[in-house]
Formats: sequence, C-alpha cells, structure tokens
Amino acid sequence: MNLATLLARAARRHPERPALLQGSQLLWTYGQLADRVARLARSLREVQGLAPGDRVVLYLANEPAYLELLHACWWAGLAVVPVNVKLHAQELAFIVADSGARLACVGAAQHEAVAAALPELPLLVTGSPEHAQALQAAALPLQDVEADALAWLFYTSGTTGRPKGVIETHRMLMAMTACYFSDVDASLGSDDVIVYAAPMSHGAGLYNFAFMARGARHLVPASGGFEPAELVDLAQRLGRLCLFAAPTMVRRLVDEAERRGTGGAGFKTIVYGGGPMYVEDIQRALRVMGPCFAQIYGQGESPMTITAMDRQAVATADAARLASVGRAQLLVEVRVADADGRELPPGEVGEVLVHGETVMPGYWRQPEASARALRGGWLWTGDLGAMSADGHLTLKDRSKDLIISGGSNIYPREVEEVLLAQPGVREVAVVGQPDREWGEVVVAFVVAEPGVDADALDALCLAHIARFKRPKRYEFVSTLPKNHYGKVLKTELRTRLQQET
Ligand code: ATP
Repeated sequence: MNLATLLARAARRHPERPALLQGSQLLWTYGQLADRVARLARSLREVQGLAPGDRVVLYLANEPAYLELLHACWWAGLAVVPVNVKLHAQELAFIVADSGARLACVGAAQHEAVAAALPELPLLVTGSPEHAQALQAAALPLQDVEADALAWLFYTSGTTGRPKGVIETHRMLMAMTACYFSDVDASLGSDDVIVYAAPMSHGAGLYNFAFMARGARHLVPASGGFEPAELVDLAQRLGRLCLFAAPTMVRRLVDEAERRGTGGAGFKTIVYGGGPMYVEDIQRALRVMGPCFAQIYGQGESPMTITAMDRQAVATADAARLASVGRAQLLVEVRVADADGRELPPGEVGEVLVHGETVMPGYWRQPEASARALRGGWLWTGDLGAMSADGHLTLKDRSKDLIISGGSNIYPREVEEVLLAQPGVREVAVVGQPDREWGEVVVAFVVAEPGVDADALDALCLAHIARFKRPKRYEFVSTLPKNHYGKVLKTELRTRLQQET
C-alpha cells in the first residue's frame, strides 16, 4: 500500500478540513494539499523524467513544502531520501552518490551550496518559478507501489561509524503508524495538531502519517525549528499540540514552561526518545508540565518502533520504570540475548534484538553490513539492555560504548547519570581510554560552570557507584563534539584519547 493513500483518503473524506498551517496561519485544506501533491507528482514524472522507484533527495529545512514534496514523491511512485540541512554539502554529495538520487528538492537557502557541490544534479528549488509551474501540471492519479518498495532511504547519523542508508519500505512505515495508535497515543484525533519542531528529515517527519490518517492538523513553526517560546505560545493558542522532541529539547521546553508559569497548558503529547532521558529530567518535566509525556525507543533500522510508554505509563511510573524505555510495541517482538542470540533471563544484560513488521529488510547496497545487523531473523540493534520479568526494557548503553576495565563491564550512561546530578554540570560524556594494565580506563569529559572540580565529582561517584566505575580522569571542556542531531560523537572522543596513548 502506497503511503500517499493516507493523504488521498483524508482528502476524499474531509476535503475542507485544515491540513497544513504555518505558525497559526492556515495554508491548505486536505483537499488543496492532495491536489497540489497530485500535480507535483505529474511534474516529477513527466517534466523531471523520473521513473517508478527513482530516489529523490529532500534537502530543505522544515517548511510547508516539505510535506507536499514528501507525499508527491510517493504519489508518483518514487522514493525519498531526506537529508538534514545541517549536513555539509559535501556530506550531502556522499548521500547523493550512495543513493543514486536523480533529483534533489532543495530550499532556497540551500540552493547555492548544493549547486556548487553537485553541479550535475538536477534541482527543484522550493518557491522558485519551476516549483510554481510544477503545481500547474494536470493531477496524476495515485500510483500503485509494492508494499515492500523503498519509501524512505534513511541515512543513520553515523555516531557509530560511516552513515548507512536504511531501507524503510511503505509496509514498515504503515506498521510504524499502527504502532503509534496502539502504543504511543491511542486517542489521536482530528483536533490534534502535530508541530514539526525537530527536523522532518528524521523521526519527527515520520510521525506525519499517523496525523494524516486521522485528518489532524500539521503545523510548521514560523521559525522553522525548535523555539521553546514559540511552542508555548502555539500550545496556548491552538491547544492539543503534539510533537516529537529529543531529550535536550524536552529540557529546554520545560525550562520555558517553568519560567512562564504556563505548565503543560495546550500540550497534548510530547513524545521523547532518540537518546537517553535521565530520570531526574523526566521527573522534573512531569512536575512542571504534567502528564503529557510519552516515550519511544527506536532506531533507523526499526523506525520509532521498538518499545514505548504512553502518557499514562510515563505519568504513573516510579523511578525504576522511568529509567526504562517501556514495553515492546504492538507489531514487534523484543528480546535480550547473548552473543549467540539465546534469550537471557530477566535482569541479565545482553544485546537488544528486534523482529517484526517495522524492521528493515537491510541497508542500501551494503550486503555485509546488512548480514551483520540481521542475523537469525532478528535485528541486532547494537544496544545493550535488560528485560524485567514483566517485559519492561532498560537500556544500559550502546555495545560500542561499553567500557571493559579490569574485566568488568562499565556502562558509561550509568556514570554519566551520577555526574549530571552535580549542580553546575551541564553535559557529560564518559568513554574508555586504552590502558596497558586495565585494558581500558574510564575518562569523563565534562562541560561545567566554573567552580565544579574533579574532587567533588569523585566524591559523588564514591557515594553512588562502585569504585571501579569511577572516572580515573576528568577532562573539563567547553563543548562536546556532536553530530547534526545533537548526539555526542563518542568515537571522536575515543580517537582523541587513543592518540594520547
Ligand atoms: P548510527 O546508527 O549511525 O550510530 P544513530 O545512533 O544516531 O546513528 P539513530 O537511529 O538515530 O542512530 O538512533 C538510534 C539509537 O538511539 C538507538 O539505537 C539507541 O541507542 C538510542 N535511543 C533511541 N531511543 C532511545 C530512548 N528512548 N532511550 C535511550 N536511547 C535511545
């Protein structure tokens, strides 16, 4: 089933309903959106000369045209390759070559850099006369596609190596949508508003399907991105605001809601995930904004869909449960296994494996990496975790970040959580440094306000974790290296330490 069917159906059922807003201004109803999409689809096929299955890169910031182009590609039987605009044009060039894309849709702000880096690649610039002309083409009927056809080629952000293209099919993303209704927000209705505050090239963009299926409103912030003050205003004006937010975004939104004294007014569902949310942070978020938080754990290889906790589950969880990522979503099986894939008893730490409808068929043109990730019918996530007897998964760390010192396993996230409790500590990244005697020793990179010193941090560790887990060294730095999604690049920190040794 073609993902664009969701839009076609919504337009048939309720053409007058508002579909797309920018700020609080209505741009298009569902009927108008479907009409624009069908016209663009014809132009993509007949003017750009693209054939079914061809890949189209989307390299634009969150802007109204994003949703339109995304659905136009599927309507025309094409696949999309969304690329975060924060990537450098040279990194984009790698993705264009790897995916074999035949067209890139770019924002006006990206045009010059892309034209210079990729002079051969045909471009469609949003807001250009060509874009306006494409919207004049005759509507193309919705094209049939195989359910297992590529819909979205998602390049991993490369925190653990070179970016790989994950094949996300129409079937997988439909299954992801069903899981959203089942495990994240069963009450999603047509009065809800999804606001695209995080990059639409990532998970936030994938959530458009659930809102499309319900005929809800889609909103692109006037700022084009994540501005806590703007979100608080929108929530108050529109109500029933839903969004996906990475843990750092949640922290900033909570700060704003607290400062303004607005609490969670107007927010319906804030889905957090994509990285560890520390227990103290989510407890504070609940205190300040009330029960509007849901959690998902997923990865590109099983998009947004491994485990989840809905609002009720998050609001009623105790500290141990808040440290977990919840239970398996409806259409996947999740297990914690040893190195041979044998399921481990509750409480034991092993690799998290996933099997089910949302799991990728493989990486794009990378048979070896695909065979490593998909073994014995399961996706090996590279995450380490433990399952409780009642099916709640707690993640320990990514297997590549695990530190083995003197034969003992140390999960950096556990040490980081302790250090973050120290007032004045803003960010922490704990990594292993090769060591002749111990194999590896623990080093903490710390971003802190003046006055925080190593002795205070060491005392905190002594009070909360086993001695062997304490950092042997603290490196006070002004920033941590991060990728374009704001995730810390531990590989870079490890390389720095390896060079020292
Ligand atoms: P790469 O695969 O190239 O290293 P990446 O780490 O950015 O890139 P993503 O698919 O963006 O890959 O992120 C998925 C990872 O993020 C998961 O495997 C997990 O480690 C982490 N993650 C996702 N959701 C959660 C969550 N709710 N809690 C803790 N960690 C999470």
